[in-house]
Amino acid sequence: CGIVGYVGTEPAGPIVYGGLENLDYRGYDSAGVALVDQELTVAKQAGEVSELRVPEVANATCGIGHTRWSTHGPPTDANAHPHTSQNGSVAVVHNGIIENYESLKGELLKEGFDFSSDTDTEVIPHLLEQELNDGHDLLSAVDRVVDRLEGSYAIAAVRAGSDRIVATRHESPLVIGHGDDAAFVASDVTAFLEHTRDVTYLEDGDVVSLEAAHATVYHDGDRVDREIETVEWDAD
Ligand code: GLU
Repeated sequence: CGIVGYVGTEPAGPIVYGGLENLDYRGYDSAGVALVDQELTVAKQAGEVSELRVPEVANATCGIGHTRWSTHGPPTDANAHPHTSQNGSVAVVHNGIIENYESLKGELLKEGFDFSSDTDTEVIPHLLEQELNDGHDLLSAVDRVVDRLEGSYAIAAVRAGSDRIVATRHESPLVIGHGDDAAFVASDVTAFLEHTRDVTYLEDGDVVSLEAAHATVYHDGDRVDREIETVEWDAD
């Protein structure tokens, strides 16, 4: 139901957690975060954001978070996002529905991937892992995987050992925030409005690569310039 991501120079845990608190007014049944260091640290569970204990990963300056409104699979700890790939090197948060997840899941099961949730979402990290194993970087892996997805989605993905978030949307809102040496992504600007008011609303099919110093938007494989707007209103 809500996505937030941060990559910058500050510890990501408290910033991502703060973003989840800001999204708390939307309905949700589960919450979770993934923090990026040489490994990914994931904490997720059914229940309130206030019950989530975000692990301290001092060196993690990149992370993603999610509040879930279940569509596929009951609100359990295992079904909470982020979802990780089989080898644990990729984590994904997703809003929306992947309509063709059953056929993708069938294929992945045949190829030996194990699933640890009932969600439609979990096909995404496994598909990304396949593309990364084939030598694609995270940006092109996301590009290739979304070509195979049907439905509505906003997705943010991270990879162990890399301070970068790749995010994309199709019929589900996604906005990026431009800070000083920091970039944000969220389904709603209120998630990060306390940190920056300079925002870019993404269009369907945009894929964005966020690094601390810059956010680069691509569409159909080409780099595109999207307007940076200043949010004038206050969340409260
Ligand atoms: N379809 C996904 C799930 O059930 C995402 C739901 C959401 O948008 O929070 O886990």
